[in-house]
Amino acid sequence: MGLDDDSREYHRQDPPGKIEIATTKPTNTQRDLSLAYSPGVAAPCLDIADDEDAAYEYTAKGNLVGVVSNGSAVLGLGNIGAQASKPVMEGKGVLFKRFADIDVFDVELDITNVDEFVAATKAMEPTFGGINLEDIKAPECFEIERQLREQMDIPVFHDDQHGTAIISGAALLNAADVTDKDLDDLDIVFSGAGASALATARFYVSLGAKKENITMCDSSGIITESRVEEGDVNKYKAEFAQPVDEGSLSDAIEGADVFAGLSVGGIVSQEMVRSMADDPIIFAMANPDPEITYEDAKDAREDTVIMATGRSDYPNQVNNVLGFPFIFRGALDVRATEINEAMKRAAAEALAELARQDVPDAVVKAYGDHPLQFGPDYVIPKPLDPRVLFEVAPAVAQAAMTSGAARERLDMNAYRERLEA
Ligand code: NAP
Ligand code: MG
Repeated sequence: MGLDDDSREYHRQDPPGKIEIATTKPTNTQRDLSLAYSPGVAAPCLDIADDEDAAYEYTAKGNLVGVVSNGSAVLGLGNIGAQASKPVMEGKGVLFKRFADIDVFDVELDITNVDEFVAATKAMEPTFGGINLEDIKAPECFEIERQLREQMDIPVFHDDQHGTAIISGAALLNAADVTDKDLDDLDIVFSGAGASALATARFYVSLGAKKENITMCDSSGIITESRVEEGDVNKYKAEFAQPVDEGSLSDAIEGADVFAGLSVGGIVSQEMVRSMADDPIIFAMANPDPEITYEDAKDAREDTVIMATGRSDYPNQVNNVLGFPFIFRGALDVRATEINEAMKRAAAEALAELARQDVPDAVVKAYGDHPLQFGPDYVIPKPLDPRVLFEVAPAVAQAAMTSGAARERLDMNAYRERLEA
């Protein structure tokens, strides 16, 4: 049987799906039940009515994330709708639980209108400690996230945008280090100007790249100021328009230090790789087929090529699971009101720093005994490395405290010990 049939079987096995609710308190006696529900439950209810923050003490809110989608941009499958997206959203819940012991309610909303989606999600604020927006198409996702961040006092994080930005941002920090380049000098070309590309470009600027050094291409080529004047691009793409002549991706990539691909597979040739600057950094992140294959990119030239893809079968996998479980872990543990830029940068820096450390034998074994050592083929940690939790969650929590997003202060040493226990 192939992967497809195996997966159907995996999902269908009784009970159908991948998650269930478990109780965490005794439910054996009549008294237990009177504590869990009426009449005993009235006491915590009234305490919360007096002070809403008490919900974090008396309910599961503080460890519960809503994975909210309308199914409009699911994986590479496109707009398959809310119901069909449910296996993906349950799967996201599985990853939250497996990597950071965070509980998830997956919420599939049959809503395409931005204002209605915002209102429905905002109305769920009492339930959750945080909201992970998932697989919502661009450009609607930008407005939905902007409004929800403004209106809600819990973290709202669109993983398809910021997860990719943070993980590839960590890779960029280290790739620049390995090739001895400065972020503020990097000439960066993006292929793709959708949800992930725009967020990633913004984040690279936040990490120190210069906006004027970023050239962005969509399916019609370079996003230029003249295309903006012609009304050819939306306001989000216009943010990265350059005062240059119109041209194609191959024009843009000439002389570039970095190629960041978040578009479609197979559109970068070896010729284009050869036209890049010395020791090029190539993040070909289109899934499942990268803009150029690992082999083709590496074989195109003699000097160092730092290559990352979205694939698990090649080095430097840009995998969002390196981010969202641990970012939410840190944010929830300080009861953060948001996930802000400082927290995102802290996550990227912690991931970058971890990749520079020696890798424990157990992690090397889990990845087929291939040596993992900081360098061109290892600029980001591996998802199954347990140290990711211990490094990223505290970094995010600390950044939340420093930047004023934390409602709760933690003793960092005690917190690290608790995570490692
Ligand atoms: P999206 O919002 O639909 O954006 C796709 C972008 O690609 C659009 O701007 C589109 O141009 C552009 N595009 C399409 N064909 C192109 C071509 N021939 N040349 C240049 N640009 C082209 O999608 P997304 O969510 O950002 O995802 C984009 C890709 O990145 C997908 O393959 C996705 O799987 C991958 N991705 C990977 C990771 C990861 O590795 N961790 C994370 C996120 C996304 P128009 O705007 O002109 O239509
Ligand atoms: Mg997604």
